[in-house]
Amino acid sequence: MNEEAINGLKPERVWFYFSEISAIPRGSKNEKAVLEYIKKTAAAMGLKSKQDKVGNVVVMKPASQGKEQSPTVVLQVHTDMVCEKNRDVQHDFLKDGIKFHREGNFIKADGTTLGSDDGIGVASLLALLEDKSLVHGPIEGLFTIDEETGLTGANHIEPGFITGKIMMNLDSEEEGVLYIGCAGGLDTTMTIPVKRKAVAGKVSVFTVMVRGLKGGHSGVDIHLGRANALKLLTRTLMAIDSGTKMKMKLVSLEGGSKHNAIPREAEATIVVPAADEAKVREIAAECEATFKNAFATTDPDAKVLVEKAKKAKPAFDDKSKAAVLDALNGFPHGVIRMSSDIPDLVETSTNVAVMKTSAAGVTIVTSQRSSIESEKDMIAAQVASVAKLAGARIKVSDGYPGWQPNVGSAVLAKGKNVYRSLYGKEPAVKAIHAGLECGIINDRVGGGVDTISFGPTIIGPHSPDEHVAIDSVEKFYNYLAEMVKSLA
Ligand SMILES: [Zn+2]
Repeated sequence: MNEEAINGLKPERVWFYFSEISAIPRGSKNEKAVLEYIKKTAAAMGLKSKQDKVGNVVVMKPASQGKEQSPTVVLQVHTDMVCEKNRDVQHDFLKDGIKFHREGNFIKADGTTLGSDDGIGVASLLALLEDKSLVHGPIEGLFTIDEETGLTGANHIEPGFITGKIMMNLDSEEEGVLYIGCAGGLDTTMTIPVKRKAVAGKVSVFTVMVRGLKGGHSGVDIHLGRANALKLLTRTLMAIDSGTKMKMKLVSLEGGSKHNAIPREAEATIVVPAADEAKVREIAAECEATFKNAFATTDPDAKVLVEKAKKAKPAFDDKSKAAVLDALNGFPHGVIRMSSDIPDLVETSTNVAVMKTSAAGVTIVTSQRSSIESEKDMIAAQVASVAKLAGARIKVSDGYPGWQPNVGSAVLAKGKNVYRSLYGKEPAVKAIHAGLECGIINDRVGGGVDTISFGPTIIGPHSPDEHVAIDSVEKFYNYLAEMVKSLA
C-alpha cells in the first residue's frame, strides 16, 4: 500500500505529492493527466502557470516580501517516467497507478519502474512551491515532458518561456553530488556506393561472424574500452583479404543495432577460392586469439566464427571492397579526449554504431558526443573526412547541444558552500558523458543560464529494480530549500 509505505516519512509533503503523482499514469508521451494535475495543484496554491504547445508547464511563484529584486531561479524537473516491468507482473502503464512499498531505507515499486526518476523531483518542486514559510526570490517551476524518449520538452522550449538566468535541474541520481555538465551529441551517417561483379571460378561462400562482445551505452560506457564488433570484423576481413592467394570478395556487411549502443555483433558474407577454405578458418581462429588477448579484461568471450553459406549474389568489385574496408578501418572509435577540468570525465568520443548493406551500398551509422560544442563538430568532421575519401554520401543529424562544465560558476560556488554548511562536508562535483535537459534548455532560451543539477539517491533507474533511498530524499529536499533561500 502506498499510504502505508510513506507513513511517517519526511519531508511529509514531498512524499504526499510523490504518492499523488504515482497514482497518475505518466509514461513518456503520456503526460497530459499529470500536467493537468500540476496546473490544478498550482492554481489551488494561488499560483499562475502557463503551458507551451508541446505541453511543458511553468509555474510562477512570486518572491517573498522584500525579495522582489532577487534573481529569478528556475527549478526544473521532467514529468515523464520510463515504463518497465518484470515479465510476471500484470500492469497497464496507460491505466494503472504505480504501487510501491518500503524496504528498510528504500521505496521500491511492486515489479515495475518506480518513477522516482524524476517523480521525486516533481514532488519536491510541488512541495517547495506550496511552502509558505520559505523566504525566496521569484521562482519559475519548469515541468518538462518526454525527457526519457527524445528530450522532446527541452527541445521545444520557446525563448522567453522561462526568464531566470539561474537554474537548478532536479534530475540526478546521487545525493551529495552536484552535476555541472553533460555531453551533446549528433549522428553521422555515411553510405559508400558499391559496384558489384559476378565471381567466376570454383569458390566457397562463408559468413564470418563476430560474437560475444559486451557492448554497452555509447555515452556512459565508452570509457570502459570495450571492443567494437564492427571494428573486429573489419580487422578479420582485412586479415583474410591479405592472407588468401586470390583476393577475398565481399558480398555484404551487417552489424550493430542502435546509434547509441556499442555494437556487440557483426557479420559479413565473403567469397574465397574453394582451395582457401582451410586458410580462412585458420586466419579467423588467429584473429579470435588476438582479440581475446587484446580485450581479455573487457571482452573475454569475444568470438570469430566462420560458417559455410549458400551461393551469394555478385560481390563488390575490388575498388568498392577496398573503399568499404578502408573506411571502416579508418573511422576512429572510442574516447577521443578526457576532460582537463573534471576528473574521469570523457570530454569527446565517437561510436561506430551500425552498418547495413543495401542496393544503395554500405551504410554506416556513427555517433559523436562532446561536452564542448566545437569538439563535437570536430570529431564528426573527422569521421566524415574518412568517409569522403571512400566516396561516401554523408548525412549529419541536427543533434543536441551539450552543457559545457563551468568550474567558475557562481551557482556552483554557492552550491558547494550551502552543502558544506548544511552537512559539514564537501559535495562531489561531476559531469556525465550523456545527454541531459540542461544543455538543451540553456541553448533554447539563448544561453547564459548558470546551472547545476542534483537529486536524491536512486538505484537502478529505468528498470523494475529502481529504488530510492528514503534518507537521501530528505537531505536532497532540505538542500534544495536551503539553496533557494540563499539565492534570494
Ligand atoms: Zn530522469
